[in-house]
Amino acid sequence: MCNNSGSRSISVPRLNVQQLGIPKYFGRERKFISMNLLNLKDNPFLIRPSRPRVFVARGGGPYSNTRAALGGIDLSSLRGKRVLLKPNAGRIASPGSGIITDPRVVAAAIDVLKEGGAEVAVGESPIVGVRALDAFDAIGITRIAEERGCRIIDLDARPPVEVPVPEGLAIDSIRLCADVLEYDFIVSIPVMKTHMHTGVTLAVKNMKGCLWGRSKVALHMLPPVEGSSERSINIAIADLSGVLRPHLAIIDGTVGMEGMGPSAGEPRELGVIVVSADCFAADAVACGLMGTRAEDVPYLRIGAERGYGVIDLDRIEVTPENWRDWIVPFSPPPANLSIEFSGINILDKNSCSACQSTLFLFLKRYGDSILDYFPDGASVNFAIGKGHPDVPAGTVCVGNCMARHQNRGIFIPGCPPVGSEILHGITGEPSIDRKDGHIEGNKS
Ligand code: SF4
Repeated sequence: MCNNSGSRSISVPRLNVQQLGIPKYFGRERKFISMNLLNLKDNPFLIRPSRPRVFVARGGGPYSNTRAALGGIDLSSLRGKRVLLKPNAGRIASPGSGIITDPRVVAAAIDVLKEGGAEVAVGESPIVGVRALDAFDAIGITRIAEERGCRIIDLDARPPVEVPVPEGLAIDSIRLCADVLEYDFIVSIPVMKTHMHTGVTLAVKNMKGCLWGRSKVALHMLPPVEGSSERSINIAIADLSGVLRPHLAIIDGTVGMEGMGPSAGEPRELGVIVVSADCFAADAVACGLMGTRAEDVPYLRIGAERGYGVIDLDRIEVTPENWRDWIVPFSPPPANLSIEFSGINILDKNSCSACQSTLFLFLKRYGDSILDYFPDGASVNFAIGKGHPDVPAGTVCVGNCMARHQNRGIFIPGCPPVGSEILHGITGEPSIDRKDGHIEGNKS
């Protein structure tokens, strides 16, 4: 699937779009835009790429922990630069839920970076069905940004830029949010979570929220990579890291999420902040704090093997040395997405993870009550995937792949549909879950 012909090596520092052979942006004339496509040598905050440093802070609140951990980084390169903070603000949820980044962590990052002389903005491209500005409002980021004279950006508001992924195996290009290209430095500020499809979601994977609109969902729908037994989503995230790595990672472990992350798990309190200029090293230490190993997270292992960062804890200098005293083992995500409700059958033939998680999260929330909408004593079939030759009459056909069976029962269009549409299709009630970050779309 990878097509390297005509692509330039990513070892060129500070590539720009014209050098990459993309002269136009969707028909508009645009100025030269410097890109943040990185290799390890380009990151001024990363002093020794072969032995990166990671700083962990605990004991204060989220604000003071963030300031303390950032104190380990030499930020003298910041003066006069433009910095984009990319928190995990992809869902509408409350601080303390473990779903989104605590706004106090974002506040501390803004303050420290501004004190270093940078112009700071905060941006996000949320999951499908959520508007960035609504999420920023709900989380509390709008308020803390306005108080600091800091711009907040809906990264989906402008047309995307197609960017090649020269080393990609699962993807050969991405549709990147245009604003991302116009900042000198990107800071990834995820919340510490397990993830039902990828093991964990931390600073590396949080960059997926720089992909424009629905294009991020496409990463969940990729065909298998020839010659690899690895899931294509994991290879795609490693591919993404080949062109888009943050200059700094600030991982919010104030309250993380264990189990069914990224949105349906349980909050888990750690009270830590992890900072590094090597996002892979930051993720590796965060994995350790969660009681798991980065080597067991496929996209981290693949990215480290390609040289995008270091995950070997023996090669990472962690401050303080006793950081392991703060390990709080997280419950892992389930090995497979099976859910049992009496009276509900899931028919899955060749679906992708986007529809799987949408249906799983929908049933987790509504599985107990949805039978009320069907005749007494009837069991209900939900079908996803494109491999069904036929389905029983009355089946709830979820997703565009089921369109050819739509006359067999209730059809819920979408690729993937959002949970509120499934609810609406079954109950006939208006979509009431637009503000429910639990079941709309797939991200982070
Ligand atoms: S409809 Fe569902 S299973 Fe089909 S491609 Fe879309 S998300 Fe995947």
